[in-house]
Amino acid sequence: MVVSTDALGGANNLFTLLASGFSGKPDAVAIETTTQRYTWRDIDAATARMANLLGSLHLPAGARVAAYTEKSPQALMLYLATLRAGLVYLPLNTAYRESELDYFLGNAEPAVVVYGSADMAWMAPLLERRIAASGTVHGFTLDANGDGTLISAAAHFPDTCATVVRQADDLAAILYTSGTTGRSKGAMLSHGNLAANALTLRDYWGWRGDDVLLHMLPIFHVHGLFVAAQGALLAGARMLWRTKFDVDEALAALPHATVMMGVPTYYVRLLADSRFDRSVCPKVRLFVSGSAPLLTETFESFADRMGQPILERYGMSETNMLTSNPYRREDGARLGGTVGRALPGVSVRVVDDGNQALPAGEIGNVQVRGPNVFSGYWRMPEKTREEFAPGGWFKTGDVGRFGGAPGVPDDYLSIVGRSKDLIITGGFNVYPKEIETVLDDLPGVAESAVIGVPHPDFGEAVVAVVVAKPGVELDAAAILKALKAGIANFKVPKRIHVVDQLPRNTMGKVQKNVLRERYGLN
Ligand code: AMP
Repeated sequence: MVVSTDALGGANNLFTLLASGFSGKPDAVAIETTTQRYTWRDIDAATARMANLLGSLHLPAGARVAAYTEKSPQALMLYLATLRAGLVYLPLNTAYRESELDYFLGNAEPAVVVYGSADMAWMAPLLERRIAASGTVHGFTLDANGDGTLISAAAHFPDTCATVVRQADDLAAILYTSGTTGRSKGAMLSHGNLAANALTLRDYWGWRGDDVLLHMLPIFHVHGLFVAAQGALLAGARMLWRTKFDVDEALAALPHATVMMGVPTYYVRLLADSRFDRSVCPKVRLFVSGSAPLLTETFESFADRMGQPILERYGMSETNMLTSNPYRREDGARLGGTVGRALPGVSVRVVDDGNQALPAGEIGNVQVRGPNVFSGYWRMPEKTREEFAPGGWFKTGDVGRFGGAPGVPDDYLSIVGRSKDLIITGGFNVYPKEIETVLDDLPGVAESAVIGVPHPDFGEAVVAVVVAKPGVELDAAAILKALKAGIANFKVPKRIHVVDQLPRNTMGKVQKNVLRERYGLN
């Protein structure tokens, strides 16, 4: 998709746009850890040194800088420095192991690889292999404390630099999708894509210069990097920077915060702690949830206890944010079980398998278009073509519906699940979410996941995996009986497994592929 330069908000690089948030207040604190404070002046100088170091490598335009680093302020600075140097940032989840990293480095062919120094004896040979395959690769280290050869090498460079001019269509980052089936794909995001979304969210969520964001999300992902960190930077707001989510740390930091962003599990864990109440967060004006579905029950208990509803939004690596429940009361109510309306400038439609728009209330494929939507998958032109419908609509792979429930306006979207999780049993379509909702409403059920597993007669069979509320003993036979009374027979699970917890990835997404492997019928 071609994006006009206006998408960069008149700036000449996404970095320049983000830096504008702190213009006129260089001594304001931008990042605060439990031991250290970094003013914007510090960040400007540190990112200039790193950008000068990267510039000294004389890399071609579009060269990739891979960051396989733990979360630290310096890791965020590496992202900003990469933008400043006009290069392309490639964050990698540190949970990836050697063979996975080998794939990412082989696919992306980064010119620079920054990695943590601990336990990485395998990194040197891996880099050697990359050098043999594709020429020079510069390796630097950056550990969890923000130390390493990246910092020591950058220290020799000046702390001012001219940010490299980039156009809106120039690549800023490649984000590998968390893809649970097949190989991960690298979503190519431009300066314009990221700027458009950052500007939209700044206005829509009312970001302010005096906001204080509690930042506990990882920064290898769209949520922590683009939505949270970029949002705060663009607003000129302070971040309370924590390496990961921890209930005690959240409770200690929340009294000072005005905004918190998290995945649903953060809110579930906070609510499970009786210390979490209104008195802990007197200044918080906005709690945002996303990256995975927020249970209606969590939404409701949160609103009851905290006196304000969580704002649930929906987005993905390929597109940044797409829809949001309203921030301002006058724009409408926040509704649990929905992800709100299309954000300004973003078009969202629900279509049938022939790409024809469906009326509100009908379930179909979610497709999107807008200046925030990526241009394609890195080195996968075929896959890119497959994933766009005529007219430039990107097929999100999510299944959803506008309106369709009492009290839900026709322009509010609800996500029903991923299309690949759709179960086809004996020729009937079964949407896991429908059965999960019924299961979750049964007494004693905390949460559930419904999957399809291969079945000789039906093609696929419905299987449910259920977690009990604390202290409750669930009886699978009783659950089955309750389901049979409430839903069509073909939707009733062939088997119910009661488990202690559902497998989730770091972004709180239930790993249905793991469940499918674990609970196949054979
Ligand atoms: P990722 O690219 O890792 O951010 O994953 C994006 C996917 O997460 C989307 O395509 C959705 O399937 C899911 N997702 C994100 N936000 C929500 C939400 N609020 N409710 C339900 N699913 C969500």
